[in-house]
Amino acid sequence: MTKRIFDEDAYRREFTATVLACKQTEGGFFVTLDATAFFPEEGGQYADTGTLGDAHVIDVQERDGVILHRTDAALAVGRTVEGRLDFAARFDRMQNHSGEHIVSGIVFRRYGFHNVGFHLNDEDMTMDFDGVLTREQLDEIEDEANRAIFENLPVTAYYPAEETLATLPFRAKDGLSGRVRLVQIGDVDLCACCAPHVASTGEIGLIKLLDFIHYKGGVRIHAACGMRALVDYRTKCREITAVSRLLSVPQNECAEGTRRLQTELGERKMAAAAYLRALTEAEIGALAENQAGNLVYFSAETDANALRRAALIGASRVQGVCAVLYGKEGDFRAMIASAHLPLKERLAYFREGLSLRGGGNDELIQGSVPMPRAEIEAFFAQPIVD
Ligand SMILES: [Zn+2]
Repeated sequence: MTKRIFDEDAYRREFTATVLACKQTEGGFFVTLDATAFFPEEGGQYADTGTLGDAHVIDVQERDGVILHRTDAALAVGRTVEGRLDFAARFDRMQNHSGEHIVSGIVFRRYGFHNVGFHLNDEDMTMDFDGVLTREQLDEIEDEANRAIFENLPVTAYYPAEETLATLPFRAKDGLSGRVRLVQIGDVDLCACCAPHVASTGEIGLIKLLDFIHYKGGVRIHAACGMRALVDYRTKCREITAVSRLLSVPQNECAEGTRRLQTELGERKMAAAAYLRALTEAEIGALAENQAGNLVYFSAETDANALRRAALIGASRVQGVCAVLYGKEGDFRAMIASAHLPLKERLAYFREGLSLRGGGNDELIQGSVPMPRAEIEAFFAQPIVD
């Protein structure tokens, strides 16, 4: 049995232990110690990392009550090793995990919703609740959670006797078994949990509920605590400052300013498209009628209906075909129309000569042409073969 140092002392970043076992495994070695401060991955929280002697601890898992440290080097059984945690990462998790307790405790007390999913890695923290919350309710929860931080409430962990446990109104995950470790945060939360937490809520610094989505009949909340919340605030300050300068609007009017810009851009895009359509049709329509050969036109317009119409107008000007293409080099879309040559029976000819993928009828065929512009022009410079 490994002594779980993190149970009693969440702040131990260095310890000495004896290697009880070391087994080679896929991607490293599984090392068992007589004592450890490394918290294994559990309850949605990632495992601690750090070093054991010269070996790096990549992952820590608990299987059947045994804590397995996955290392990148073997450690001799019986050897005494110094363990060292990456404590910056651990403390960040302690802050965020403790913040999650506060939020979950408040949500449970106020609305009776349970935390049914928790995930904490180095980039994100999410909590899932089995009931829907509004933006306004989340603001109130956030206020209350941060007041609990300002009050610097004590966070304590203990193993109550079974008969005491039965009388306590604590939050717990389903299927709880064995000795139950309770974590109490002032009068804000009482929850069964085995992870390391901060000693007092002031250490969490700040709780920010960043975003939420409706999820499985409830909500999923993204949140950040401590330095993560500060870094997030700093990043957003920089971004919003830059956006407000670019839009020349006050910072709290950036959304409205962007909406105005989007509307204007949409209107201009539509006007530009209409202009291009008219231009394409006018250019093709201006050609003299009954010209010999084929007509090839590469258009900046991408509206398929407009290009189809242009191809049909062009077809009425030539004895051969009118091909209208758009797209980019080696990846064009083509509309090929003819007023005189039935196209359907020539489909194989276009498929072979243009690598055309598509189909159509006697008046118009369309599809993709994965060829360079020069080769397409060379193809249409020749008469269409029957
Ligand atoms: Zn916890």
